[in-house]
Amino acid sequence: MQRASFDVVVVGAGPAGAVTAAFLRDKGLSVLLLERERFPRFHVGESLTGTAGDLLTSLGLDDTMEALDFVPKPGVKVYGRGAKSEFYVPVLRPTWQVRRAEFDDVLLDVAKSRGAVYRLGSVKRVLSDDDGRVRGVAYVPRDDESQLVEVDAKVVVDASGQHAFLSTQGIAGHRQVEAFNRQIAVFSHYEGVEREPSDNGSATVILYGDTLHWAWMIPISSTTVSIGVVLPTTTYKRHGATPQEVMDWGLAQLHPELTRRTKDATQMEPVRANRNYSYKVEPFAGPGWLCVGDSHRFSDPIFSFGVSFAMTEAKVAADAIAEAIEHGDDVERFARYEAWSTSGHEVAFDLIRYFWKFPGFFAFMTRGKHAHDVIRLLAGDCFDGEIEATRAMRESLRDAASLEAIPDGPARKIAERVHERYDFFQGVEAALLDVDDDGVRLSFVMSDDDGDMSDSLRDFEAALMEDFGPNRLAIESVTRDAAAASSERHRIFDRRNLR
Ligand code: FAD
Repeated sequence: MQRASFDVVVVGAGPAGAVTAAFLRDKGLSVLLLERERFPRFHVGESLTGTAGDLLTSLGLDDTMEALDFVPKPGVKVYGRGAKSEFYVPVLRPTWQVRRAEFDDVLLDVAKSRGAVYRLGSVKRVLSDDDGRVRGVAYVPRDDESQLVEVDAKVVVDASGQHAFLSTQGIAGHRQVEAFNRQIAVFSHYEGVEREPSDNGSATVILYGDTLHWAWMIPISSTTVSIGVVLPTTTYKRHGATPQEVMDWGLAQLHPELTRRTKDATQMEPVRANRNYSYKVEPFAGPGWLCVGDSHRFSDPIFSFGVSFAMTEAKVAADAIAEAIEHGDDVERFARYEAWSTSGHEVAFDLIRYFWKFPGFFAFMTRGKHAHDVIRLLAGDCFDGEIEATRAMRESLRDAASLEAIPDGPARKIAERVHERYDFFQGVEAALLDVDDDGVRLSFVMSDDDGDMSDSLRDFEAALMEDFGPNRLAIESVTRDAAAASSERHRIFDRRNLR
């Protein structure tokens, strides 16, 4: 049995582990970085957000990214169902599309060049004191599998990605499945794919097939495009027995733009699959340990947050660790790290939920008064607390949930119609619904200075009347004061507290 001792041991040398190690070295701590796979190795996750670009710049990697010919990413183009709609969100900060095999190697080199000790080996178990405090790990070196090396450390960082090492050891909490869990992604690299035209040729393209059915196209070099098809597990099985069959189906059937752009494409890699990848682990910090990146949480990859969240957390975790070692108060500091991270992930999670629940309206938000906020969020700036767009989306998600309380039938249909359209109505602060034996009363609450209905609302009212008939439906517009006095039973939406 060999022994070693470091300030910090980091399990896993993906973006979370390598960047944590690099920042810890900047603070003068001794770091052992353990990785079980020999790099370069294939990894999914090739499109970076603006915050990842900022962190790469802060690590001094701009020239390296250029020298390695990583593809600058201008933004994200989303094509709606059947290519009948589309929207584009710019990144507005330098960032890249990356070939992960090379990219992860670059980050590992940064950690090594700053003095992290790197060992190829598989971490097998945690060392802990009788009181439960984690005090190190034991690993098997790749070049001598008969050995077990015990490493003492003041802090153990779990950066083991989807392996969630500390969760499997019973130190962090159980892996809990999340809303987007039952999904399968199949992906590969292709040449001869038609890209976005002109300046946006290297943008990420998202192709929306149906709820939770989508594909990505990420240009990762001047010749190669990464393509992934994502489906719920239930639909996956209907479209093939192997990842290759499902990918072939996806290229042919998921979205007309995908089919058109890949008609002359050549597949360059075997099709790989990744399933059930949305989960969270709680708690993910405790005495002598914390988790960074995918080792504690990962949600639907639609907005490419994974690497940027891993790197953002790495920086904040390194600060917390250095201060905790200096002041001897890791439990409190790591709890603050945990709360900060959870709130950022919740913002991202609600953004994703909102996209799937209201795709048309999401597109509208990228252009409307919340455009600036939405661009920020899509750049990965999700860790600054609840900003106005997040508040608005959360309101709608809550209202959507409350619509389910309306009895199924015409009343629910009317409420859903209003809810889908609500931000198109200028000057409307809330829509309230009463249902009784006589029918449905729909009240639009107008803003104080704008007691009149806008033309768009009048048109909508006329369309509702035509579809549901005046005998069972009454529509009125009321002032704020009148609404406060009314006995409404259902809120379809309510923005009165957003002002
Ligand atoms: P990883 O990159 O997985 O690194 C973990 C490392 O730990 C691995 O190298 C592993 O070998 C090592 N390890 C594990 N266990 C041990 C052990 N016991 N001992 C030693 N080493 C160990 N993200 C984006 O940013 N953009 C995208 O476009 C994107 N698309 C995605 C598409 C799909 C379908 C999926 C599933 C994910 C996608 N992601 C994307 C997410 C991204 O892949 C991850 O969030 C990111 O890789 C997380 O980095 P990490 O360092 O936490 O984990």
